[in-house]
Formats: sequence, C-alpha cells, structure tokens
Amino acid sequence: MHLVLLGSPGAGKGTQVEILRSKLDLVHIATGDLLREAVKGRTLLGQKAENFIKEGRLVPDDVILELLEDKIKQEKKGFILDGFPRNLFQAKKLDEILHGQNKGLDLVINLEVKESVIIERLSGRLLCSSCGRIYNKEDLGNSNSTCRVCGVSLCRRDDDNSEVIKERIKTYLKHTYPLLDYYRKKRVLYNIQGEKSPQEVAQEIMNFLSKKEKI
Ligand code: ADP
Repeated sequence: MHLVLLGSPGAGKGTQVEILRSKLDLVHIATGDLLREAVKGRTLLGQKAENFIKEGRLVPDDVILELLEDKIKQEKKGFILDGFPRNLFQAKKLDEILHGQNKGLDLVINLEVKESVIIERLSGRLLCSSCGRIYNKEDLGNSNSTCRVCGVSLCRRDDDNSEVIKERIKTYLKHTYPLLDYYRKKRVLYNIQGEKSPQEVAQEIMNFLSKKEKI
C-alpha cells in the first residue's frame, strides 16, 4: 500500500503516523525528519536546506528529490509519506516514480484542521529529543517535561515559533493546498476531520482502510 498524508503544519500527520505505523506494516517516510537529521549531521544536503526550514519556506525540489527519490524507489513493502509531496511539481514527480515501477498511490488522506487550532497546537508542541515523540503542553498538564517512554527531556522545534509558524501556514496554503484538488480529481483523496482526538482520527482512518469505501 502507498499512502500520502496531507494537511497543514500541525494538522497531526506525525502523530497519526506514530499510531498507524504499528497497525499497518508500512514504512514511514517523513521529509521533515529526514531534513532535520541532515541539518543536524551537517551534510551538504542539510546545509542547503537549513535556511529554508528556518524561514518556513519550502526546500528546493532538487534537494528534496535528492533526499527522497531513491528511498521511494527502493521501498518494497509500501509506505506512508508524510511531508511529501508539498507542491504540484513534487506530486507529479511522485506519480512518475511510482508509474515507472508499475505502482500507484492507493490513498491520500487529508487531515482538516482550522487555522486557530493549528497555531495553538504548534505553539504548544514539544518533542522528545531522543525518540521524537510528539507532546502538547496540554497533554503534559503539570507533569514535568520529560518523555513518558525515554524519560529524556522534551524540546521545542526551532521552527515552532510564531513568526515561522505564520510563514509555514502561508507556504502550505500557496503550494500544498492546491494538491487537494489534484488528488480529488484523481479520486484518491479522503478528507478527515483532524480536530478529534488522535485515537479517534486514527480509528477513522483504519475503519476507512478496512472497508475500502469508494471515495
Ligand atoms: P510541518 O508539516 O509541521 O511544517 P515538517 O517537519 O513536515 O513540518 O517540515 C519542516 C520543514 O521542512 C518545512 O517547513 C520545509 O521547510 C521543509 N520540508 C519538508 N518537506 C518538504 C518538501 N516535501 N518540500 C520542500 N520542503 C520541505
């Protein structure tokens, strides 16, 4: 199975993949995580991407494809793509890569969340610096800011500050939002209300996949 998760920054893509990955035997490919790793490792690719990420803009397509193309081609058992494609060029490129291997996209899941909720979520988001698990200030309540699994302290992503959040949302609306129409026309788009609890959203996705309802 080849799935794409769409949705604005903060829509819950990463959280959903964490839940779905254990239920579906698929590989998770998250461009944001791959890019942050490359930046941290000071690779050439990371250096090319760094400023774009800091500013909330899209990293150039050639850099993204260099990072991703082989991974997609080599993946045998199926994948969930999170953060790719992010514009029309990337969507067409993905079609081309899959087509070249006699494959196609099975489903594009779009998580719909309104802007005010997105801003609130991103401003309160904390990550485990070891395993990358996502927490929200509300989930943690008064408990200390450590990961429930690793016990390691939580941190904020550099681009989760109000200026960059605004820019990321703008970038999403301009470049990624038009993909909804692209995939709707291809009849692979499934919209999900992403403001429910993560477990409810995941359950809805699983129900949909098991029934394979007609889109
Ligand atoms: P979010 O969806 O919360 O904004 P991601 O972790 O998916 O965060 O991406 C972080 C940043 O990485 C983006 O703001 C962008 O700069 C860059 N990025 C990720 N995926 C892509 C992509 N497919 N094309 C271009 N830039 C990307």
